[in-house]
Amino acid sequence: MHVVHIASELAPIAKAGGLGDVVHGLSKEQVRAGMRVDVIIPKYDIIDYGRVENLNLVCGDLWSYEDTFEYHNAVFSAQVHGIQSYLIEPHHNQYYFNRKTIYGTLNDVERFLYFSRTALEFLLHQNSVPDIIHIHDWPTAIVAPLLKTLYDETPLKDSSIIFTIHNIEHQGKCHPRALSRIGLRGLDFRKNESMQDPKDPSLVNLLKGGIAFSDQITTVSPNYAKEIETNEMSFGLYETIRKHKHKLSGILNGIELESWNPASDETLADNYPSNPSYLDTVIENKSLNKELLLKNLALAPNPNPLIVCVTRIAKQKGPKLIQTALHHTLSKGGTFILLGTASDAHTEKEFLHIKKHYHKHPNLFIGLTFNESLARQIYAGADAIIIPSLFEPCGLTQMISMRYGTVPIARATGGLADTILDFADDSVDKCKRTGFLFKEPLEAEVENVLDRAFDCFHNQPFEWQNLIRSGLNLDLGWKTSSLLYQKLYERAKQKTG
Ligand code: ADP
Repeated sequence: MHVVHIASELAPIAKAGGLGDVVHGLSKEQVRAGMRVDVIIPKYDIIDYGRVENLNLVCGDLWSYEDTFEYHNAVFSAQVHGIQSYLIEPHHNQYYFNRKTIYGTLNDVERFLYFSRTALEFLLHQNSVPDIIHIHDWPTAIVAPLLKTLYDETPLKDSSIIFTIHNIEHQGKCHPRALSRIGLRGLDFRKNESMQDPKDPSLVNLLKGGIAFSDQITTVSPNYAKEIETNEMSFGLYETIRKHKHKLSGILNGIELESWNPASDETLADNYPSNPSYLDTVIENKSLNKELLLKNLALAPNPNPLIVCVTRIAKQKGPKLIQTALHHTLSKGGTFILLGTASDAHTEKEFLHIKKHYHKHPNLFIGLTFNESLARQIYAGADAIIIPSLFEPCGLTQMISMRYGTVPIARATGGLADTILDFADDSVDKCKRTGFLFKEPLEAEVENVLDRAFDCFHNQPFEWQNLIRSGLNLDLGWKTSSLLYQKLYERAKQKTG
């Protein structure tokens, strides 16, 4: 089976969030399972070249199109943690991927439309006809409509196309003209059964195009697959989802166990096994990591719980509820560490204000940056992580935390509800309960869930250790999910073939 992922992110070299982790983790497991796997991403200027091996120019004369112009591109081959990757560098007068960021520029739609078309040109140029082309979220969703129309008389027509929705909120909406610029007849796609945006009929919707034109659609947890069929959680696309429901399945994300491993994580001062049989060592070394983390962040030693939050600070993640958790933790004598990148200037200002308000507080650290090493040290040193998301397609931070022996406290939504079992849930065996859940996204519920967690930590230390043990016991890797993807690929191939 030959699979080509066309994506906007690949951890650890180009990562903005969970999408990059998923493309990395799934690809790596697919390689382990014996598949031939290629990943195609843009050659961003922010790529961490220290982690790229065998970088070689493999194609110096690739041409692609935009508007009435032809543009030259170079393609580099590279190995990223054993994954065969291709980096496309457009020689385009807009310098599309030299923006010091993956997303957030004024013409993100144009950048990724251009990249998607060029990725298909690259496959044609290489005479490569993969069994599966796997695309991810709105940035590469247009590959599906391209493949089923513009490329339907090329050898690529034999490839099946799988589309994974990592987050239905971001849809990539644009004027049909943007499609015309990469060779499609834009207006032909502005139809309800095609790519017309349900909220603004003058626009086309890239994510909708991925849903309508792919052979199979997946989303990143079974619970989220159900949620996106509803009006409240689909961001306008529930009719499209319902129409294409026969193609949809929810496959839970995993985490890459080699990369997320406290036993070998080079950023940690004290490594420890992610193994419930060594619970005493886990607890002992976690407390050493906690001690050092607090010291490095100029925080006071504190026997009370260290509650952390590692996140994009976007509306989805419940910024107000993060603030509630922060204030409440401090009021109960705990320590709170927030590592987050704000999604907009207003949110950043709000959190800077809190930071200023608590200036030099011995129990609070707020870091408004993306810092992978610090994130890892936080997972290792924390007692608990809070994830109060308004919605969460899967969520990786609760899984990483459990792998590092940190107890998750989260809202019961999407993949969080699929991966965490509540401390007080009598319907499941005690040894399977892993954390604390709350239902409604309300301040009072956040305070209440923290009260429950603090109570358990202080008054039932043995039960707290049981939560850590159950988390360490979970199979959080990609193996099971990768097999489900493989079955789906085979189904898609049978249908296309
Ligand atoms: P999302 O994809 O919605 O951002 P996920 O929970 O699926 O959320 O994945 C988040 C990933 O990004 C995790 O690997 C997490 O450790 C990482 N991450 C989030 N914020 C930061 C940050 N400020 N610094 C470092 N890593 C971060």
